[in-house]
Amino acid sequence: MNKVKGTYDVLPNESKMWQALEKKIAQLMERYNYKEIRTPMMEYSEVFHRQSEGSDMVTKETYDFLDRSDRKLTLKPEGTAGVIRSFVENKLYVGNDVVKLYYIQPNFRYERPQKGRYRQFMQFGVEAIGIRSPLLDAEVVSIAYNFIKILGLKGAKIKINTLGDKTSRTNYLEALKAYFEPHREVLSYDSKVRLDKNPLRILDSKDENDIKLVKDAPTPLEYLTDDAKNYFDDVLKYLDSANIDYEISPRLVRGLDYYSHVVFEVEADIEGFGAQNVLGGGGRYESLVEELGGPSLGGIGIAFGLERILLALEAEHINLASEDAIDAYFIVFDEAHKKHAFSYAEMLRANDISVEFDFKKTSFKNQLKRALKLNAKYLLILGEDEINQGTITVKNTVTETQESIKQNDLLTYLKEKLGE
Ligand code: AMP
Repeated sequence: MNKVKGTYDVLPNESKMWQALEKKIAQLMERYNYKEIRTPMMEYSEVFHRQSEGSDMVTKETYDFLDRSDRKLTLKPEGTAGVIRSFVENKLYVGNDVVKLYYIQPNFRYERPQKGRYRQFMQFGVEAIGIRSPLLDAEVVSIAYNFIKILGLKGAKIKINTLGDKTSRTNYLEALKAYFEPHREVLSYDSKVRLDKNPLRILDSKDENDIKLVKDAPTPLEYLTDDAKNYFDDVLKYLDSANIDYEISPRLVRGLDYYSHVVFEVEADIEGFGAQNVLGGGGRYESLVEELGGPSLGGIGIAFGLERILLALEAEHINLASEDAIDAYFIVFDEAHKKHAFSYAEMLRANDISVEFDFKKTSFKNQLKRALKLNAKYLLILGEDEINQGTITVKNTVTETQESIKQNDLLTYLKEKLGE
């Protein structure tokens, strides 16, 4: 039997990387005071298929199905809508000017699988919902910036733009339509449809002819109201004051209909990285909370594709799980001594020290081999002499020095050494 097309297994030798990445995310989120939210894998379809939605993703890429009672359900294709559904349903806004949330979750999209593009993929995302403030927008851009930084990725940059407020957007959409309309015949099939439904999406087109036309298309920056321009300037001022690098990308728009004001993406600029080089994207949304039945509140969010982050780390030879080692490995000379090893192991494990030993009866040499393969930091050797004298021989596998330690002192000794 094979796995479902476009999915993948995380095998034991890869899971450390995922765990290390998730740990980094949790640490980062603590610094910014964002709290984790976990929402279900499936939602009622209308959470994603709303009337206003004109994006390709929502119209053709979702996994929709009927359950046994004929309810229309959808596997989450993205994180924001589910989080907002929960935010509204649980009235998280009560008593809070801003609610800062993050998630790490699988998403499902029926796309053509390739490197960096899967049908089930993991996203880390944040949503800051409530007050409309350039400072909050700057904070979310800063999260994206620092996420890349704490991972040690060098070839990644932030591209930012604004779509402005409702008026700016409406004017801009008209200008876009007017610009593309005379070229309707040469547009790709998809872009012809987009021209009627959501011309913004044409700017994301990968079609060669479309790309040529997009080069001279008007940009949202030319259609900003004074308010929208000031808002964007304020966001940029905050970023400048904190030396957060970014590049203004005047034709960056994001496909989902609900964005307004700031939109941004994190792009990998790594040699040989391949076509799927957008690591993350986000922006401000003003109408989504209301559309999902909540009060008139906006929010700003970003989501990163974690498989692409791992690919970028690999391309830059960064191994987050390099500390993948166990603390101690018991080596015994006699099967009868295994019960001692087992009881010491229990005691050490209860004190947060990772311990392993051999389960089969095997030679000293083979035990040593396995210990080194598992990157054990210390060998805990239990022979006849040690048992008789109530000691353990502790050998550091890096310095190759060894000491005889009284069994009662083992925990203190290891704790001190491992803490160094
Ligand atoms: P989006 O919600 O489309 O803006 O996607 C946000 C991020 O999720 C992208 O920048 C990618 O890193 C990642 N992503 C989106 N679709 C996929 C996919 N099919 N497979 C893997 N990663 C994806």
